Amino acid sequence: MPLRLWPALLLCAAALAPPSLAEHQPLRVGVYANEPKLLLDNDNQLSGIFGELLREIAQREGWELQAVPCEWQQCLELTRDGRIDLLPDTAWNEERAGYLDFHQLPALFSWSQIYSQQELRLNSLLDLNDRRIAVLAGSVQEEHLKALLLSFGLQAQLLPVQSLAQGFKLVSSGAADAAVANQRFGDYHADQYGLSSTPIMFQPARLFYATGKDRHAPLLAAIDRHLKQWQEQPDSLYYQIIQRWGGKPPQLRVPTSLWWGLATLSALFLLALGGALLLRRRVAEQTRHLSASELRLNTILDSVEAFIYIKDPQLRYQYANRKVCELFGRSREEVLGHSDSAFFDANTVDNLRRNDLRVLQQGERVQIEEVNRNLADNSEHAYLTVKLPLRRPDGTIYALCGISTDITEHKKNLEQIHQLAFFDPLTGLPNRRLLQDRLQHALAHHARSGEEGALLFIDLDNFKTLNDTLGHAMGDQLLQQVALRLRGLLREEDSLARLGGDEFVLMLERLSSTPAKALVEIETVANKLLGSLAEPYDLNGHEHSSTASIGVALFSDAHSTVEELLKRADLAMYEAKASGRNIVRFFNPQMQTAALARIRLETDLRHSIGERHFLLHYQPQVDHLGRLIGAEALVRWQHPQHGLIPPGEFIPLAESTDLILPLGRWILQAACEQLVAWSHDAELAELPLAVNVSARQLHHADFVSDVLAILKQTGANPARLELELTESHLASDIEEMIQRMLQLQAHGVRFSLDDFGTGYSSLSYLKRLPLTRLKIDRCFVRDLLSDPNDAAIVRAIVALAQSLDLQVLAEGVETAEQRDALLQIGCSLYQGYLFAKPGPAEQLHDWPRPSRLELTE
Ligand code: C2E
Ligand code: CA
Ligand code: CA
Repeated sequence: MPLRLWPALLLCAAALAPPSLAEHQPLRVGVYANEPKLLLDNDNQLSGIFGELLREIAQREGWELQAVPCEWQQCLELTRDGRIDLLPDTAWNEERAGYLDFHQLPALFSWSQIYSQQELRLNSLLDLNDRRIAVLAGSVQEEHLKALLLSFGLQAQLLPVQSLAQGFKLVSSGAADAAVANQRFGDYHADQYGLSSTPIMFQPARLFYATGKDRHAPLLAAIDRHLKQWQEQPDSLYYQIIQRWGGKPPQLRVPTSLWWGLATLSALFLLALGGALLLRRRVAEQTRHLSASELRLNTILDSVEAFIYIKDPQLRYQYANRKVCELFGRSREEVLGHSDSAFFDANTVDNLRRNDLRVLQQGERVQIEEVNRNLADNSEHAYLTVKLPLRRPDGTIYALCGISTDITEHKKNLEQIHQLAFFDPLTGLPNRRLLQDRLQHALAHHARSGEEGALLFIDLDNFKTLNDTLGHAMGDQLLQQVALRLRGLLREEDSLARLGGDEFVLMLERLSSTPAKALVEIETVANKLLGSLAEPYDLNGHEHSSTASIGVALFSDAHSTVEELLKRADLAMYEAKASGRNIVRFFNPQMQTAALARIRLETDLRHSIGERHFLLHYQPQVDHLGRLIGAEALVRWQHPQHGLIPPGEFIPLAESTDLILPLGRWILQAACEQLVAWSHDAELAELPLAVNVSARQLHHADFVSDVLAILKQTGANPARLELELTESHLASDIEEMIQRMLQLQAHGVRFSLDDFGTGYSSLSYLKRLPLTRLKIDRCFVRDLLSDPNDAAIVRAIVALAQSLDLQVLAEGVETAEQRDALLQIGCSLYQGYLFAKPGPAEQLHDWPRPSRLELTE
């Protein structure tokens, strides 16, 4: 460190040093009259035990003392604020330690004692009940006395006084019954005021000189130094002073602190003794009280119509009122100490446990609905339960208290009200109100998504006649059975309601957005309903026949208003009635036209199948050199009036009814007959023939046996027959389909996957299917040259086919460019107008054929 800094440093150190006490600054000492511990003598000199001790110390330390008389409370404040330097005779407590400093060794020990008029016999704390007691305002004694009285449940009137002398005066004048004083003051002055000490003592205290916080550490250290020295010598100045002021010198040559420790203990012992005495007297009294109030409490808790209980942290019942015991069917002794597993089923126990732990562990106050199943009678009840934690004074939880109200009946009533408000009591179906509600939602959804929906208004034909002839009871029975049948036909997303009388309404949602398809979906449902409702009913042994009429309105007809939609469906239903009953009518005119056309078509188709008004056309399949490698059979309907109808116009209809089954059998039969015919022709004897099979056919239980029977009956070679399936075949029952295909394959029949790329074949299934060929759908070929996406798809299909070791054939090839592009990608088999349209079998004659050698490759 550079030398020139030393002077500055020394200056700083001097500034930091505490001011020297010897520097003729008088030390201000707070004095409140508390003889014999502290007082001012006639010369205004500090006196009493603390006063004299301090003067002795001051003399040795060279302090100049200046007495500042004050009342106790004021003394404390002045010391705290630094306007008094030293306050003698201050009892240590935690609160004061917050704003005062104390030295280490107590200057004096003391305790508080009650002094009373001599006639008054105060023997224990208990006797302080209802007494007027003078106590030093703001003193530690006051606090202690208050706490003591409170903890023993005693009432006393405390009279705050400014000095101990004032308290004693109050007692001697009769204005107070007793006064609290430190034992030194009390014993010293009692006689003078005509008071006597009582055995009631409390609050052993250690007395010190105190200073304001952080103000006079050296001063306190000096006091400690002298006290230590004196207290170690029984004949020291310290004991002489105490003795002079009425105290007794120590009898034993033991450290003073120990002596005083014993004194404290004995004071505490006396206090305890007083307490015990009090308690004994109190307990007898209180037991009477307690058992009376416990009885009263129990009576109250037992007469409440709620389940009240307390559980410990192990979830064992600690208390249970009468209702709880009754619920469990046990006595209180049988309930207490047990947990819920003794009374409830496992589910309930789990549930209760979860709720209880929220209270016991998280300290939550829970209000919940609990549904509990009783072990005793297996009954289930719902409760509204409030559970709250019970806490110790330090906040920890020692139990939970639960109050549960049985709301089972209440809930049942609510459900009943709901049922009555929204359901038809006779059939249990939703009523008009609920339907309107659901319809509202459905229409809103329709408006957002554009998904089509329909309302079917179903009305029984001639219901009134039944009601009038057989009576209302029979009518009701019929309605119930109708409801049952309708319900049986519903899909999950459908909504059925009874509007009243014999009117039912069915709401269909999520119909196809193409009108033609939606029409098929609606008709399918409506026809099912009509069919089912037309079956005979058993009404109390009477067989009864009935039919219904159905009116249909589409969501898109009604501009999204519920009432309008209902009205339109209703109107359509009247149309159905007017048109002869047991039929379906659409509100929408185009739908109606289409529906009528369809109905006519269906009738015609049914008729034509019986009459075999169909024929097969054949479309050649060729290789890259244009040579014939096979043919596909495509059905045509020879309509008596409308001429040749393409399959697109009637196959979907045939598929939506069961007509596809007889039609499909006819097609297969005709194809097999054609194979047999070719077998006699040297050129075409080996030509494979592909036949389309509908999903409905393949899924039919008799499919395999039908095919085998036809092969056998016609004598066609199964190895020439190729069945074309589409991916939609594989949508369900895939394992079953594979089994059927394998069965036929075992006879030599082959399979190709038609319209490939338009469905959602799972690759894993594709591998397991016994296929020989994939047919690339026409739509990819059409735009192959213009749409890079389609080219990519075709490329992927070809690659896939190669990896699965399948042939690949492109359909709908119309131009040479398409063919060339396909060939380049790797597809060398084709079908399409470029080569030939489907036509009579004759067109296949004279077609160039690959050599036998090439075919077997
Ligand atoms: P599909 O099985 O995909 O049949 C191929 C369709 O593509 C045939 O229509 C055929 O005439 C047409 N086509 C062939 N080459 C070309 C071309 O180059 N350009 C265009 N634009 N079209 C071409 P078709 O005969 O009208 O048959 C339509 C659908 O009806 C068939 O599609 C098939 O799904 C079904 N179908 C036809 N016959 C039967 C049958 O016997 N049974 C079953 N279940 N369905 C059949
Ligand atoms: Ca086909
Ligand atoms: Ca196809």
